[in-house]
Amino acid sequence: AQERYASLRGKPATALCGTRITLKMNAGLMADLPSLRSSGAEAVGLFRTELQFLIRDKMPKRAELVANYTRVLDAAHGKKVYFRTLDIGSDKVTPYMKRPDEPNPAMGWRALRVGLDKPGVLRMQLQALIRAAAGRPLSVMFPLVAQASEFDRARDVLMRELDRERRLGHVLPEKVEIGTMLETPSLAYAPDSFFKAVDFISIGGNDLKQFFFAADRENELVRRRYDTLNLSFLTFLQHIVDRCHVAGTDLSFCGEDAGRPLDALAFAGIGIQALSMRPASVGPVKSLIRRANLNEVSEIIARTKARGLENARPALLDYVASLP
Ligand code: PEP
Ligand code: MG
Repeated sequence: AQERYASLRGKPATALCGTRITLKMNAGLMADLPSLRSSGAEAVGLFRTELQFLIRDKMPKRAELVANYTRVLDAAHGKKVYFRTLDIGSDKVTPYMKRPDEPNPAMGWRALRVGLDKPGVLRMQLQALIRAAAGRPLSVMFPLVAQASEFDRARDVLMRELDRERRLGHVLPEKVEIGTMLETPSLAYAPDSFFKAVDFISIGGNDLKQFFFAADRENELVRRRYDTLNLSFLTFLQHIVDRCHVAGTDLSFCGEDAGRPLDALAFAGIGIQALSMRPASVGPVKSLIRRANLNEVSEIIARTKARGLENARPALLDYVASLP
């Protein structure tokens, strides 16, 4: 199978119906970057910047961040890197950033909430990203945005830093794309103006699913209880697809489920045309998408829903088993 995936490396993930799905990879450390070439991923769809903070024992300095992000962009050789700003808190904690004791950290003071309340580290990080991009395009994505005004405020922080860097005489990025993760159900019901204001949305399925089903992603007792292909969840994802479609918003999915071929196929079937996953999943996902017809996938999902079934997985498994 490894060889078969290697032979697909330079080929697009185009389904039999002609729809082309963009496959990107998730990363977080410099060591992940070589996979961009070997996996055949078209971009780094999610760069988890907190990983570089988590492996250290003290707060990095801005100059170190500039050096890190520069190396990441150099290693990407012109492929896009979507830098997600710090997502500290919940399951990700550093010894050197003081955190309150919280009864429910996943729903607590984490990610952009910290960045907006105490913007020092977020600003340093944005300055470093701007300097690293210097003349190249920059894509910035904010984590755990739960309402439109949080995105507006985060974007304002970035715009102010761009202005400051310009006044300091630094070369600005060639262009800046500002987008958000969609990880809370609330954001799927934000006003139309929000969908138009963002440059892109990436569905963080790991968090979105835990909040949708109220099932802690870290808790072994419940984390596998609710299936991604449960039709309630797929219907909800479809709602997000429809809203992005109407507003013309660029949409992708970057949770772990995007790397599971059958789940990826279902996402593509409901109209999510970009998926970001761990590098090793790019081959298997591409292989399945190229063998499938997304119109048929879409019909199967619609039919299982019309029949009142709870889950589309059995029908999709049958479909995949029937493929030549
Ligand atoms: C997610 O929540 O799906 C996601 C991609 O972010 P993380 O797993 O880092 O929380
Ligand atoms: Mg998340």
